[in-house]
Amino acid sequence: MKEREFIDWIRSQREGDSAVVVVGPGDDCAVLACGGEKLLVSTDQLLDGVHFDLKRDGAEAAGRKAMARALSDLAAMAAKPLAAVATVTLPKGFTRADAEALYRGRRSVSDAFACPMVGGDVGSWSGPLAIGVTVFGTSGGVKPILRSGAIAGEALCVTGRLGGSWRTDRHLKFSPRIVEARKLAAKYHVGAMIDISDGLALDLWRLCEASGVGAEVQAQAVPCHDDAVAGRKITPLQAALGDGEDYELLFTLPADQAEELCRTQPLGTPITRIGQTVNPDAGVMLVHPEGKREKLEPAGWEHET
Ligand SMILES: [Mg+2]
Repeated sequence: MKEREFIDWIRSQREGDSAVVVVGPGDDCAVLACGGEKLLVSTDQLLDGVHFDLKRDGAEAAGRKAMARALSDLAAMAAKPLAAVATVTLPKGFTRADAEALYRGRRSVSDAFACPMVGGDVGSWSGPLAIGVTVFGTSGGVKPILRSGAIAGEALCVTGRLGGSWRTDRHLKFSPRIVEARKLAAKYHVGAMIDISDGLALDLWRLCEASGVGAEVQAQAVPCHDDAVAGRKITPLQAALGDGEDYELLFTLPADQAEELCRTQPLGTPITRIGQTVNPDAGVMLVHPEGKREKLEPAGWEHET
């Protein structure tokens, strides 16, 4: 069974509806009504050999990334971090120095975003290092931004620059956009938001599907990172669209607010307007400068390693 099929099947098995569940599966976090506050919850796993390479990257980088990736899902909904719990499955030969490095990496991100680790479970086995992090956040005075809130005719914007994060250590050292997301959501009418974990193309598809809109992306507007270099099979633009692991924010808002945001650049990280949302029947399109339009497929490009 493929991951996608498994997720679809799980979602088809309805859990008992509850007044507590404000947003169930399918967004970056679940949203729960908890007293007068909204509690946001997300969980994420990091596997040696898939999301990092313990031998090459070290345990500190793994701990850092595990925490940062989980926080990026809170950022996607403009939540305020509250606390986290984790599971760690240790491989054979994991040393005391490795354990301290793992802790150091995770702790640096927890401290930077005021999200203390408050519990967890440790096991060991003969397989590779596996880390699961569950984060809790609150709306903290800012309404959670869902993937489903976009309407046709909004501007589409991204933070930062995209592509090639796996070529360097950027996919290990990124900073989750918690502060940026909360500033955006507090001051602007952000319609929908998602963090770019699997590539701009795929995450844009998810946002459009959840919102019931189409999109037009201007190819020359996509901010390609310096790491997004041309390879044998791909252009920098394709790397920016398909590589993923950028952990930047993709969001929609009214065009006049996008214009102000791009002009004033108040976040300290660049904001770029890359296109607009359109009617759903128009699909998700990439528009080239000479006017050529092509379907933007919801798939990443194969990495050349
Ligand atoms: Mg996400």
